Amino acid sequence: MSREVRTGSVVVDRIGELVTNDPTLGEGPLGIVRDAAVVVVDGVVTYAGPRAGAPVAEHAGRLDAQGAAVIPGFVDSHGHYVFAGDRAEEFAARMAGQPYTAGGIASTVRATREASDEDLAAGVGRLVREAALSGTTTAECKSGYGLSVVDEQRSLEIAGRHADEITFLGAHVVPQEYADRRDDYVALVAGEMLDACAPHATWIDVFCDRGAFDADEAREILRAGIGRGLMPRVHANQLQQGPGVQVAIEVGAASADHCTHLSDDDVEALAASDVVATLLPGAEFSTRAQYPDARRLLDRGVTVALAADCNPGSSYTTSMPFCIAVAVRDMRMTPSEAVWSATAGGARALRRSDVGHLGVGARGDLVLLDAPSHLHLAYRPGVPLVRSVFRAGARVR
Ligand SMILES: [Zn+2]
Repeated sequence: MSREVRTGSVVVDRIGELVTNDPTLGEGPLGIVRDAAVVVVDGVVTYAGPRAGAPVAEHAGRLDAQGAAVIPGFVDSHGHYVFAGDRAEEFAARMAGQPYTAGGIASTVRATREASDEDLAAGVGRLVREAALSGTTTAECKSGYGLSVVDEQRSLEIAGRHADEITFLGAHVVPQEYADRRDDYVALVAGEMLDACAPHATWIDVFCDRGAFDADEAREILRAGIGRGLMPRVHANQLQQGPGVQVAIEVGAASADHCTHLSDDDVEALAASDVVATLLPGAEFSTRAQYPDARRLLDRGVTVALAADCNPGSSYTTSMPFCIAVAVRDMRMTPSEAVWSATAGGARALRRSDVGHLGVGARGDLVLLDAPSHLHLAYRPGVPLVRSVFRAGARVR
């Protein structure tokens, strides 16, 4: 279903600051080890800790970190990579004062339906590679710009060639040809479209918000997906307060994504649930909108993930370092919280225990920074600090 993982073996030595995200291995929630080494054999971490204790790994390549920091690869749990065209003009108009609405999606749907499989696949491949160059080693990818049975199915097939976690988002918006009969579209998504798409996806998602789908429609579609063996996640509370977060909790979603406009009840309900709040600062940045208040969620004990939400309309970035910098500057996260949320938090949002940390047994996904500390990701915004990237021990940068 998802891309094959090429594996390798590598020893990264002379690490000045190693972020493991495993508190049993080092200081604090990030499990930081100084003067450290990581050993990856055949794609899997076999050692992460002080240099002095590192075993000899024959046949593994050796990388000298020269005192720089190493962190787990980013886990970007929210992306829309399957589309054609771009919406630079719409972005420019918005920056000139026009408001963002969910309706702009229609122009990307038109372009995506007209595009060949080859062109769509080239676009997904380009974005996944672009993300990897800034340190993303696990990428989730949604459909949602086809909005017909055949175009949603091929979107998912194409996504599965390049991305790690595949999500059916037939319920992104109601396409124009169903504008006067939205019940029929909901029935299509929960019926024939789901039948065609379920074999190509792990997850089902619904955009439950103003201009998209209401709570009853979202429940119907999510429950149908669960009945077909898909796991739920929800676009919730991006544009206004509404039922999205509550629906996510009701259906046992792994994650409620956006969480920009939350009532006190929403925050309390998230805190009492195991639903991850995935915050997408690229969307607020690119729509010049109010940011979600990460501090409010963190202070109540909600698990927070950060993701890039790469899409052509409201957040055309693949850069997790950018999201970290914005989350720290404008969402009141500490630099350490933001790095955790972009790695371990993303893994929680995808219910993955093999990525997002560097404990023994984890996949060997790691990023060597051009910096002495993970703090520099927020401290030096816009600077290309990602020097080397390994995925399952194989070098991708
Ligand atoms: Zn999205």
